[in-house]
Amino acid sequence: MAKQYEMLVGGKWTKARNGATRDILDPASGELVAKVPESGREDVVAAIEAARAAFDHGPWRKTTALDRSKLLLKLADAIRGEAKMLAELETRNCGKPLAEAEFDVADAANCFEFYAGLATKIHGETMQVPANSLSFVVREPIGVCGQIIPWNYPLLMAAWKLAPALAAGNCVILKPSELTPLTALELARMVTQLEFPAGVVNVVTGPGAGAGEELASNMKVDKIAFTGGTVTGRKIMAAATSNIKKVTLELGGKNPNIFFADADLEAAVDGALFGAFANQGEVCSAGSKLLVERSLHKPLVEGMLKKIPRIKLGHGLTAGTKMGPLVSSAHREKVEAYIKIGQDEGAKLVCGGKRPAGKEFERGNFLEPTIFDNVKPTMRIAREEIFGPVLSVIPFDTEEEAIRIANDTEYGLAAAVWTKNVNKAMRVMQQIRAGIVWLNTYHPTFNEMPWGGYKQSGIGRELGLYGIEAYLETKQMNLNLDEAPIGWY
Ligand code: NAD
Repeated sequence: MAKQYEMLVGGKWTKARNGATRDILDPASGELVAKVPESGREDVVAAIEAARAAFDHGPWRKTTALDRSKLLLKLADAIRGEAKMLAELETRNCGKPLAEAEFDVADAANCFEFYAGLATKIHGETMQVPANSLSFVVREPIGVCGQIIPWNYPLLMAAWKLAPALAAGNCVILKPSELTPLTALELARMVTQLEFPAGVVNVVTGPGAGAGEELASNMKVDKIAFTGGTVTGRKIMAAATSNIKKVTLELGGKNPNIFFADADLEAAVDGALFGAFANQGEVCSAGSKLLVERSLHKPLVEGMLKKIPRIKLGHGLTAGTKMGPLVSSAHREKVEAYIKIGQDEGAKLVCGGKRPAGKEFERGNFLEPTIFDNVKPTMRIAREEIFGPVLSVIPFDTEEEAIRIANDTEYGLAAAVWTKNVNKAMRVMQQIRAGIVWLNTYHPTFNEMPWGGYKQSGIGRELGLYGIEAYLETKQMNLNLDEAPIGWY
């Protein structure tokens, strides 16, 4: 029988107040994996009240940074201790190949460890001011933080949100995507097995409509941190105006992967395919807009086509699978609609574009890795985030043209440049308007380095020192050292 989960509210396991549940399906087989509460606004309000009470009146505010650090280290260890279960559950819930899920789980543990280290390094500063005053700056937690995450990296996104917020001393309400709540609920269970006071970590499951909206608009939430689509991000930002919440947004991207003629061909082929098709292309930083210098165009496309058969589709738990199903049938339909748009726009479909044939694919949301060649920068498939395994190849002639096409987007999350010429690499990397730029590689992400976007890819940064900044208030304190009254009146 499928496991029936409950949500963590104020240290207690609870059902949705109206009793509603949602079936969580394996996107590769359609099988029922689990049932979770489908919370509404009232459940989120209860979680907010619990977090508010824990922050305003609970023992959490009095825990030392060292205690918080030790707790986060224990959480990292707990994740590692159950890594196999978490990775398999992640694969069964969102479809990704097991090797990718294993990587995510390890990275999530590392993230908690990184912020465990930072918890004890939060510090203020003193200032010389033009008065007989001792003036200094202290850093404090923001308070109650709502955190809303997407379905493509469920556990990792939970770690990116929870780790810095808890290290800084906040109380949180985490809402995973309604499609992929399972590993976040397991993480919540691990939290209850450690010494976190009740109400410090709350995990509510439910949809954006109602549950998510409440978290973004509720007057008792001090900060909202969101990762998801730009359209949703806009709504969250508007909802957050209710009480002028602090806002962090990690949104979508249409990321240029730029190959110059002198790039190493073999590395280029690998980097192009990995950039576009890792995690089924369901990656905010996917290199889905490939720009290639004219003389490398043919060899690069031919090289990719030769290697594409190695991207073996299948259930993520089957050995050898390199690409799993898309997260839901509705999402596959959205991606397929873009494939039709690409064909109608006149781009040349050189591989994929359809559902794979075979009995093992019949019940899952599978889609072949798809490449469009001779794409024009004005086409919708070159401009809009498809969030699936669809790559658009655009040839260019000059460095200036490559930079212009790369930057001709409303997004600015990530980009990569491939060349052996260091001067050219630096020129181009400097001019790219994006928060992350790689050279001769694609996708490496480090807990130590800031993550986030320019333009409509978001506001603020996660990870690194920047990630903890996003969960801290800044207070100036002034001590008058004079004894005499100021004598103004
Ligand atoms: P989504 O925006 O549909 O949903 C994300 C989350 O927001 C879910 O938990 C959902 O329930 C919630 N939500 C939806 N509507 C809401 C509302 N009105 N108010 C409050 N919450 C609401 O995104 P998705 O389809 O789950 O994920 C895909 C998107 O996420 C892509 O655009 C991708 O680029 C982006 N993403 C960005 C990053 C990054 O770091 N920049 C990382 C991963 C994913």
